[in-house]
Amino acid sequence: MENTSGSTSEKQTSNLTLSQIKQELASWRIHLDNDWSEKEIRRIWQVFHRLAVQANALTLPQIFNDQATKFFHSGRPGRAGRTKGDEVYLDDDWTDWTLAHELGHRWNNAWEKQPEQWLRKSLGAGRWEWLKRKLRSFEKWLRKTAQKLDLNWKIDWQALWYHPGKAPPPCGVDRNFNASEDLAESFAATIFPEDAKQRASNAASRLTKFGEQWDWGRNYQNFWLTPRGQLTSRFLKERSPGEGHADQTDRRAAKD
Ligand SMILES: [Zn+2]
Repeated sequence: MENTSGSTSEKQTSNLTLSQIKQELASWRIHLDNDWSEKEIRRIWQVFHRLAVQANALTLPQIFNDQATKFFHSGRPGRAGRTKGDEVYLDDDWTDWTLAHELGHRWNNAWEKQPEQWLRKSLGAGRWEWLKRKLRSFEKWLRKTAQKLDLNWKIDWQALWYHPGKAPPPCGVDRNFNASEDLAESFAATIFPEDAKQRASNAASRLTKFGEQWDWGRNYQNFWLTPRGQLTSRFLKERSPGEGHADQTDRRAAKD
């Protein structure tokens, strides 16, 4: 569990045949369509395997509320991904981090966004978000208008960015950061804490103003020891994240 280099998973996957890996993925309720290469399938297995190690109290389907997850190539160039409900779309050059991040969104969706709400509440994050969201839309409009008019205005109001609350963000904040991205980044950082440390340090050095707050590697040995890391690991190890969800499930069961 303390091994963050990935070598443990690599060793284990190399011992398994492709059909064993496919079988295991299917037993975890992970569906892949036919156009994934063997290398990609092995990488997907490795990321899930690392997640399983991290959430050792649960089986993988339990983490995702016993729901299936479907993977698709997005057919787009680049290294990003998108998640819609139970479907994950990965760009041509997806990285293990991309996958871990999208799985964070998938996890959040599986629990009806309870994880992001719990993370936000626990950390006092997203202060004034209802107002900031409106102001960010205005800022976006202003930026586009300035571009159209060829005005050389630099509009990027950091005061409007999502507030990370009383703990360092997983890998910095930018204008696209919000409660869902916070959760997805925290989830990815739990699977790849060393990558997260580097990302946090890079983000902090880009914006020296936030260096002290964002570069959590200065104060914590690894991500799991940060407040976000501890909360995310705890959510992961519990079957249902937060009391609120248990209530909801009970209510639904009662209705059914
Ligand atoms: Zn995202």
